[in-house]
Amino acid sequence: MRAFSDNYIWLIESPRAPQHVLVVDPGDAAPVRAELATRGQTVAGILLTHHHPDHIGGVEALLAGGRAPVYGPDDARIAGLTHRLKGGERIDFAELGLMFETLHVPGHTLSHIAFVGHGALFCGDTLFSAGCGRMFEGTPEQMNASLTHLKELPPGTRVYCGHEYTAQNLLFARTVEPHNDALRQYENAVAVLRATGDPSLPSTIAVERRVNPFLRCDVSGVRAAAERHAGRPLTQFPDVFAVLRAWKDGFR
Ligand code: ZN
Ligand code: FE
Repeated sequence: MRAFSDNYIWLIESPRAPQHVLVVDPGDAAPVRAELATRGQTVAGILLTHHHPDHIGGVEALLAGGRAPVYGPDDARIAGLTHRLKGGERIDFAELGLMFETLHVPGHTLSHIAFVGHGALFCGDTLFSAGCGRMFEGTPEQMNASLTHLKELPPGTRVYCGHEYTAQNLLFARTVEPHNDALRQYENAVAVLRATGDPSLPSTIAVERRVNPFLRCDVSGVRAAAERHAGRPLTQFPDVFAVLRAWKDGFR
């Protein structure tokens, strides 16, 4: 569901107990409460990817004194966690029939984590469709390694990002790879969805591997574009990534 201007708060329904949901990155409680009231559902747990207010701001109000567990990065900047995660853990909601693995994906923030399970990836502000998060705390090496890790998930994995940034990201992706046919097709598909206000998400890992320049630092055309932009040869993938990221930061 939507929050603020372009955030998504994802609700994960339990097949075993459909009246209970897990809530991913509730930056705002009010829209979640309203949605759950109309669906007759309650919060069975909260999953947080990183400490930014647009992802955690609604946690306290959503719990409203209740006892639902709150899973998130082991980071002093996040209050109210019941389970502190570093990545590499398995979290099991046995009564809901849901299980997720956590991945440490530093770069946007240092303690950022992602949740993977049931063919879905909840990646916060690390990976966006056709783009990636700004590198607020990590190094290009860290962020590139995090994205490489996500890129190696099974191709069919559905990608649930923290923001609707796809259309803007595609403008940059097209600038980097003007001759990428898969990118052109994806732009058309996204334009159709966005014209009626539908989300462009979830994407899939397979799609992102074809269209997302930040997952394509090993593609010669992407490297060549980054080299032209930087005006120097780039021999290492993290260097290509760093140039792309800085290029995008100043784009439009
Ligand atoms: Zn963020
Ligand atoms: Fe965000």
